[in-house]
Amino acid sequence: MKPPQRQGTWAVREGSDLAASEVLVNAPDLVVCLDPELLIEAVGGDAEAFFGLSAQELLGRSALDLIHSEDQERVMANMKRFADGQETYRPELRLMHAGGYSVVVEVVGRRVPGPGGTHYLLVARRQLGLGVRQVADDVGIGILRCDPFGEIHESNAAASLLHGYAGEELFGRIQDLSVRVLAEPDGDSTAASGPETAVQLHPALRYLEDAGVSSQVATIVGRDGVSRVISFDGRRVQYREDGTPGIIMLLREVTELHQMQQELYRRSTRDDLTGLLKRSTFIQAAESMLKATVQQSGEQPAAQSSGSSLFGVLFCDIDRFKSINERHGHGEADRFLAQLSADLALLGTNTEASLSAGGTTSIHLGRIGGDEFALAVQCNNRAEFDRLAAGFRASVQRTALATLHVLVTASVGVSEFDPEVGQTVEELLDEAGAVLRLAKGTGRDRILHCDRSLRAVRIEQKRLEGVLRAALSAGRIEYALQPVVDPYTGQISGAEALARLRDDDGSLVPAAKWIEVAVSAGLSNAVDAAVVEPVIELLGSLVGRCPRGLPVIGVNLSDTSLARPDLAEWIFSLLERHQVDPVAFLVEVPELVLPVIRERAAEALSQFREKGLWLAVDDFGSGYASFNEVRDLPLNTLKIDRSFLTEQRDSADYIILRTALEMTHALGCRSVAEGVETQAELEIVMDLRVDYVQGYLLARPMPPDDFVRLLLSDRTLAPQRIEHGDG
Ligand code: C2E
Ligand code: CA
Ligand code: CA
Repeated sequence: MKPPQRQGTWAVREGSDLAASEVLVNAPDLVVCLDPELLIEAVGGDAEAFFGLSAQELLGRSALDLIHSEDQERVMANMKRFADGQETYRPELRLMHAGGYSVVVEVVGRRVPGPGGTHYLLVARRQLGLGVRQVADDVGIGILRCDPFGEIHESNAAASLLHGYAGEELFGRIQDLSVRVLAEPDGDSTAASGPETAVQLHPALRYLEDAGVSSQVATIVGRDGVSRVISFDGRRVQYREDGTPGIIMLLREVTELHQMQQELYRRSTRDDLTGLLKRSTFIQAAESMLKATVQQSGEQPAAQSSGSSLFGVLFCDIDRFKSINERHGHGEADRFLAQLSADLALLGTNTEASLSAGGTTSIHLGRIGGDEFALAVQCNNRAEFDRLAAGFRASVQRTALATLHVLVTASVGVSEFDPEVGQTVEELLDEAGAVLRLAKGTGRDRILHCDRSLRAVRIEQKRLEGVLRAALSAGRIEYALQPVVDPYTGQISGAEALARLRDDDGSLVPAAKWIEVAVSAGLSNAVDAAVVEPVIELLGSLVGRCPRGLPVIGVNLSDTSLARPDLAEWIFSLLERHQVDPVAFLVEVPELVLPVIRERAAEALSQFREKGLWLAVDDFGSGYASFNEVRDLPLNTLKIDRSFLTEQRDSADYIILRTALEMTHALGCRSVAEGVETQAELEIVMDLRVDYVQGYLLARPMPPDDFVRLLLSDRTLAPQRIEHGDG
């Protein structure tokens, strides 16, 4: 290659006695000429000060000897390329001073052709302190400067190391480096299949193509085969010599930082034990899958749709997991779950069935509760839902046999997206959960689909939830009072308060329909409070107005109310505010929740008893409460469930009823027979010495005002009826 020809000038005004050599001598820089063998043939400028050697000592020496040993190899490589015709040469290097220290200089070189070969004219300028390049090397920041065509003009040792080139400088074209560049996986890649990384352009080239991307992170698989995550920051620059544009990039290795971020991300989105998606991430991933399904089926008419147009959610749960936990211990149970999850990951890959149906199935798999798993499925064949549900069940059986050596079954609720209903993923999960509960309630070990009628029930429940929420926030929950009567005198001893909800059309919604909705929506304590507060207020308004003393009014408390940490405080402060004697207030606790109470509300109940409040077990006999359970709690009233009432003295129910009432007396409790509808039922419970009765026969639940009127009229209720019945 031909060295560049430069048409330099040296002009001196006429009459001046300044000689070119004079200028050289006084130049603040070091000027050195090397012969083709790189031996010094001329020195000028401040050469003696740079090296601490006289000019005579310098002449004839090898230039290389004057360079810091660590820089020699690099400089030689550069010199060689420069000699071969590479562009201007401007390295930064350390020169050795005779005093033993080094001087950092920036060098500009020129080739000077001569008859015996190429001579070199080098001008070195002192750098104050350390050179940028060396500092960069020391802190591991790579520098890469290249022209618009990707030709590298400058790089430092750190840049080479980051590309897996040990000890050499990067040179040549970026395109020709032997590295592979992988795009960084997006943080939100939640697919079960794992992140995809495509080979792509080197960030320097991307930056050259599109200056908009100034900061990039890429994984570089270097020439040494090691992959490093590197952040690249680019700037456009202009070459000092001729003003041509180029870029300079700073490189920093961020592998560790990146790994840490990845790990944090993984932990925030994935379940620790199983590595499956957590509930919130699962829903997010499923949501975008659902969106894609809807878009695809919107773009193509169903008939010719080649994409997957069906979407469904499977709610999968292991039957009797609690007993596995108890029998095998948490450690074993956890190992089982982890093993199961690994097995489940294969569900997505085994798509034979779907392939034969001529389509593709994609799934997301999440762990959404202790033993609850969910699948979001996009497919184009309805049979896929059953295939995957069966796959889950088989996987549970297989894993349980292998790890726990027992037969374990599982149930799955399936809910398919219906474009006419337009459910969200949360709603589909809700529906699938509801059918799952149904499956569990009807013998477990099965797959159930959410069908139209079930969906209609769910929709009605959702509607009622809305009505209830609106009523609660507007303070529009009402209550009725049903008298509780002493059947031997007919006198009203008190009442039970029953919550009432009005539908949008003003009609009353049966409690059986909406109390359940309140419970599953987590609103039952709000409902209880909406009854408790006005009831105590009503009692307060009756103080001093009842000739026979205050009636005892009972309220129903759900388990969430009973678990309120401020339960006793709440009730006592209300009673105090309205100056109501605690003996006029009764709390009904459903028999079903007695075990819960023993753990969480025993303290409050004891305080109630101390102050004279009445405590009743509601629906006694319906929940298999044991004698001990009742005896150990500070209860004093048992409300015998309506299902035990009978009109026949020789029936099995009669025996149970008699036992229940005998038990009440043995426990020293008062008894209330609930739901008495007929004269015969009333007579039987009276024969068995029941203390009080409540039922349609005596009085239906009525508005509070009607109850107050009835109470203050001092009318008796039962005996007349008995007399009538008898007469
Ligand atoms: P419960 O506590 O067992 O209330 C008695 C239920 O039996 C009431 O139904 C009442 O109207 C009904 N009943 C009374 N006498 C008769 C009768 O002679 N025959 C028949 N067949 N039924 C009779 P209601 O008002 O529909 O309430 C149903 C359930 O809703 C209540 O059962 C209670 O568990 C719950 N509930 C009502 N109000 C509240 C409340 O404020 N909070 C809570 N947590 N639950 C409530
Ligand atoms: Ca009750
Ligand atoms: Ca009851």
